[in-house]
Amino acid sequence: MATIQSNWKIDGSQEAKRIVNPIRDIVDGRKLEENPEKELINLSLGDPTVFGNLPIHEAMKKAIQDAVNSGTCNGYGPAHGLQQARKAVAKHYGAPDSPLTENDVIMTCGCSGALDLCITSIGNSGQNILIPRPGFVLYRCLSVPRGVEARQYDLLPDKQWEADLDHMEKLIDANTVAIVVVNPSNPCGSVYSKQHILEILAVAERHFLPVIADEVYAGLVFSGSKFYSIASLSQNVPVLSCGGMGKKYLVPGWRVGWILIHDKNDILKKEVVPCLMSATRKILGPSTILQAALPDILENVPNSYVENTMNVVQANATAVYNKLSAVPGLQPVIPLGAMYMMVGIDLTKFPNLTSAIDLMEKLMCEESVYCLPGECFQYPGFFRLVLSMPNDRVKEACSRITDFCKKYYVEAK
Ligand SMILES: *Cc1c(COP(=O)(O)O)cnc(C)c1O
Repeated sequence: MATIQSNWKIDGSQEAKRIVNPIRDIVDGRKLEENPEKELINLSLGDPTVFGNLPIHEAMKKAIQDAVNSGTCNGYGPAHGLQQARKAVAKHYGAPDSPLTENDVIMTCGCSGALDLCITSIGNSGQNILIPRPGFVLYRCLSVPRGVEARQYDLLPDKQWEADLDHMEKLIDANTVAIVVVNPSNPCGSVYSKQHILEILAVAERHFLPVIADEVYAGLVFSGSKFYSIASLSQNVPVLSCGGMGKKYLVPGWRVGWILIHDKNDILKKEVVPCLMSATRKILGPSTILQAALPDILENVPNSYVENTMNVVQANATAVYNKLSAVPGLQPVIPLGAMYMMVGIDLTKFPNLTSAIDLMEKLMCEESVYCLPGECFQYPGFFRLVLSMPNDRVKEACSRITDFCKKYYVEAK
């Protein structure tokens, strides 16, 4: 065996080795074992299907069956997506202030695929993009292996996770090529006001930078909040809006996403759009069955489907916030949308917890509650809870977190 292996030395690529995923690095390296006496409550996965409490709409099943039965969607489609799918997305997501035609839409493999195409098509090695902190890990995974630096601008927990605009502006230099904005936010659950989006756009406009908007949670806001797409508020800044079916329609495994190209002034038309189109030729978009089903799904799934999801999430958010804000040493930040909440932990009050990673491990092994530490989002001192599960599970998780914190809390002398 040894000689066979020493004759076959096949190196992995440097590019693949540069793909860093902090969640995997932090979580996989540890043995996370739950307490066998307590049923596991997994609040770590941003996948609304895992608890089984949010079934998909019947119209979605029918649309898929019809697409299969038609027998006409089994071949290769155009690299940037089937015309009927692009047309339906343009109709559904276009607005008077931000009109779209089918030619402004590219179908992609999930919202991840959309972000990949955008980051692949803007900027070169040695340049940089701005990304939020705390932030979704994917932006770094996509930029760093290409030699594009991912510079993090701070979000402010005391201002409901608005971007620190001064910090954002200070990070911009001659090599900056785009600003990534996620709204509503994973991991924060924040939803930006019209005013704040206009402020971000003003920074982008002063520096002639396009915005890559991660709007995979578009419209997923609690009652009382309103979602504004960044493109709908932009006069001059070009916006590449990345979205998808996964979160809104509760089917992340279907891998259907899109890019909406908002380019009123033809700023991206000459260079970036052709690059996006070339980049689509690598993978050829999502399954044609799903693309063919998409027009019926967008047309026939009622708003009440999304409202139902958000009612579940909002009820959980309220319950968690009420419960955990009463726990000494914890500072939950109330979300306004998406499916998550960040909770701050004042580690000076918990001398036997060394970090949020330590908290994650001990909470798992003592209370069988699994949440992700802020380190997974470059944000120590916080942990993230997923809010899409049944309400009784959330309440149980909160009781256990409360007991856990009371056990570890030490009042300063
Ligand atoms: C889930 C998620 C994505 C990826 O969406 P897919 O459609 O599953 O690829 C992108 N951005 C954010 C902020 C997300 O939470």
